[in-house]
Amino acid sequence: MDLASIGNGKREIGKEEIGKALAEQLPPLTPHAAAVEADRCLYCYDAPCTHACPTHIDIPRFIKKIASNNMHGSAEAIYASNLLGATCARVCPVQELCEGACVLGADHKPIAIGRLQRFAMDYAREHRIYPIVTAEPTGRSIAVIGAGPAGLSCAGELARRGHAATVFEKRDMPGGLSTYGIIGLREPAEVALEETRMIETLGVEIKTGIEFGKDVFLAQLQQDFDAVVLSVGLGCTPGLGIEGEEAIIDGLEYIEASKTNPASMNVGRNVLVIGAGNTAVDCATIARRLGAERVTMVYRRTDREMTCYEHEYDFARKEGIEFRFLSQPSRVLLEEGLTVGLECMRVELGAPDASGRPSPQPVEGSEFVLASDQIVKAVGQKKPALLGLKTNKGFIAVDAAFQTSIVGVYAIGDCIRSTGAASTVMAVQDGKLAANAIHEQFFPRQTMAEVR
Ligand SMILES: Cc1cc2nc3c(=O)[nH]c(=O)nc-3n(C[C@H](O)[C@H](O)[C@H](O)COP(=O)(O)OP(=O)(O)OC[C@H]3O[C@@H](n4cnc5c(N)ncnc54)[C@H](O)[C@@H]3O)c2cc1C
Ligand code: SF4
Repeated sequence: MDLASIGNGKREIGKEEIGKALAEQLPPLTPHAAAVEADRCLYCYDAPCTHACPTHIDIPRFIKKIASNNMHGSAEAIYASNLLGATCARVCPVQELCEGACVLGADHKPIAIGRLQRFAMDYAREHRIYPIVTAEPTGRSIAVIGAGPAGLSCAGELARRGHAATVFEKRDMPGGLSTYGIIGLREPAEVALEETRMIETLGVEIKTGIEFGKDVFLAQLQQDFDAVVLSVGLGCTPGLGIEGEEAIIDGLEYIEASKTNPASMNVGRNVLVIGAGNTAVDCATIARRLGAERVTMVYRRTDREMTCYEHEYDFARKEGIEFRFLSQPSRVLLEEGLTVGLECMRVELGAPDASGRPSPQPVEGSEFVLASDQIVKAVGQKKPALLGLKTNKGFIAVDAAFQTSIVGVYAIGDCIRSTGAASTVMAVQDGKLAANAIHEQFFPRQTMAEVR
């Protein structure tokens, strides 16, 4: 969809303003600030922050190395558990994970673990400090489909274990949602691309512009490789099934344009964002920062059922974003092809549905109109439909070793996340665990500790 052709084109913003509006939100720590913050850490034994990190980074260890100015050692401590530490430092919901578990949080401020990790990873990037592969080549080769966080983590971890990993990516640029989907305020695309280049230095081959199911097929990959890993993520935003839907912009495309070609965007003056998850908050933030006078998130339940994190809800309110709860879109109103409003129905909440949340029940005859010149939808992503694989709630079903219903074919990341909120760090952990499982399948007696 051509974003420039959507909206009534009333809002213009200069290139410089765009750069500033969407620049990374938190500045890097200065060396002095990092040293002071690292010195506050108690270096806890059996540290709760490490337990709370899905990739179990040895947090006190990497922080202690910052305190003793051993930046090389700090980066290595992070890489040991998480190859995508630069991305995770920026995008992880640290309030819910490591920082939320920090013992200092009870009475003081928790340690700024995310910002310290970013400090170490920025240093590693500037000084080209990359993990070193010491394993001998095993002669085994693995095809990884999709160069998002799950695929890159898996390919990098396989390379560390001496296997030849080739990643096939359908887009022009690797990085998955880190490159195209996570708002630039949290992670600029360049950070994700630089991290991808680091993965290549481990010996991973990344082939972009190649789509599995169109340019390469399973039968061929099964012949050419010893295993196949599917890390294809999820699809585009599902349809709402309402009249005039063709005028609604896909929120993922909206975010992608803001990261890759913000000057092409034509942001409305009065923008409605349908949805209340983190993607919806990101879309609303972009609209607001790029000059929309009024941005309203439209959600059919209440603030108690929103799927975005509480800190994101607070952030959105601080950005001046408004909320319209208990409202279900029923029709887009168009005049001469241009969006002029969204008709909604008032909703009452009923008994819990399959998601466990109260089911929205539209009230007959309660239609009302919200004026708008641009509507964006951010209501989740379509589930993967691949190879007739067994599924679980629509996601690819895997066993404890990440193997799908086809022997030798594994799946990781968002495409298997049937429970809980999907996140980058969980995709990275899947990649690491799957690499280990595949390695053990090839060499049953070697444990992860022996190959590291
Ligand atoms: C808007 C948005 C914001 C988010 N913000 C955050 C955040 O702040 N923090 C956080 O932790 N998580 C966030 N997430 C979730 C996080 O981005 C995902 O959990 C993570 O990217 C999953 O990684 P993945 O590798 O499984 O999938 P993806 O990142 O989706 O990568 C899948 C890759 O596979 C490729 N692919 C798909 N099909 C094929 C095919 N047939 N052939 C070849 N290649 C293919 C895709 O092009 C893509 O590059 C966000 C998600 C969205 C949508
Ligand atoms: S819990 Fe807090 S104080 Fe303890 S090691 Fe982790 S970051 Fe340091």
